[in-house]
Amino acid sequence: MFIRDLLQTKPVTFSCELFPPKAGTDLARADEVVEQTARLKPDFISVTYGASGNTSHNTLRMARRIEENGCTALAHLTCVSASRSDVAVRLDAMQQSGVQNVLALRGDLPEGETKPADACFQHANELVEAIRAHGEFCIGGACYPEGHVESASQEEDIANLKRKVEAGCDFLTTQMFFDNNVLYRFLYKLYAKGITVPVLAGIMPVTNKKQMTRIIRLSGTSLPPRFQNILDRFGDDSAAMEQAGIAYATEQIIDLVANGVRGVHLYTMNRPDIAGRIASNLSHILGKDA
Ligand code: FAD
Repeated sequence: MFIRDLLQTKPVTFSCELFPPKAGTDLARADEVVEQTARLKPDFISVTYGASGNTSHNTLRMARRIEENGCTALAHLTCVSASRSDVAVRLDAMQQSGVQNVLALRGDLPEGETKPADACFQHANELVEAIRAHGEFCIGGACYPEGHVESASQEEDIANLKRKVEAGCDFLTTQMFFDNNVLYRFLYKLYAKGITVPVLAGIMPVTNKKQMTRIIRLSGTSLPPRFQNILDRFGDDSAAMEQAGIAYATEQIIDLVANGVRGVHLYTMNRPDIAGRIASNLSHILGKDA
């Protein structure tokens, strides 16, 4: 099923993100994570993609498993290290596996790696064009409510985002954010610039302080004082942090839906138990029988 059709018909969508195992490792555990996540009946499940492409077959394998479990899959694809023929091979493989939805990303070169000589994409808008030219896919793109770390200003980032949408994105998914007002301000700016495709709000339930500190540093996401207080108070007590993180994400989603946001994408970090507790807290709000 094309995600763009789901987004048109459902009042609110709830989706989950998973990451694939490193090449050859722990495929059985990955299958379990897919099965447990699919049991939550999200509208779709996405699978991330290693920027250098060396776990790409596991992304596709996991996407196939998602479809086999009766759920719509969204396979991420990055282009920073890819040639045109690499991209064509991956899109062909997706089509052969029945995966119809792709999140088109530039990605970041892993530290210490240099761009291969035949890598030919500079930005995600070029990948979106290549996917459109390749065949019938529903295409998503990434967006950044606080601006992408490389952009000189949010205005510049939104102008680039517009190019990406005009290249053929059907929808956008945001980077995580912890202050909903940041998202609301961003959505107004997109609307003012004529970006009207659906925007799914990326929500990260923070259940582990150490992991979070690194992610926040890399992504440049700001922490509102209310959230910082939670991290300071409960960050060293894993059980308490987990409860607080689930409660915070739950509250964020309630506020988003109450304010008219029509898609929530949960960064599950491969924790279907945590995604399940959030879905269960929101069963009536998201229209799911958890
Ligand atoms: P782009 O859209 O190319 O933007 C990158 C920067 O370039 C921005 O500053 C933008 O303003 C600028 N820019 C864009 N187009 C142009 C242009 N035409 N000319 C000049 N400047 C331009 N990474 C992974 O490795 N694997 C994943 O699976 C993955 N999934 C993600 C999912 C989501 C929802 C998000 C938000 C991010 C994800 N990332 C993933 C991280 C992402 O790859 C990085 O944030 C990366 O730095 C930017 O990717 P992009 O597709 O947004 O790039």
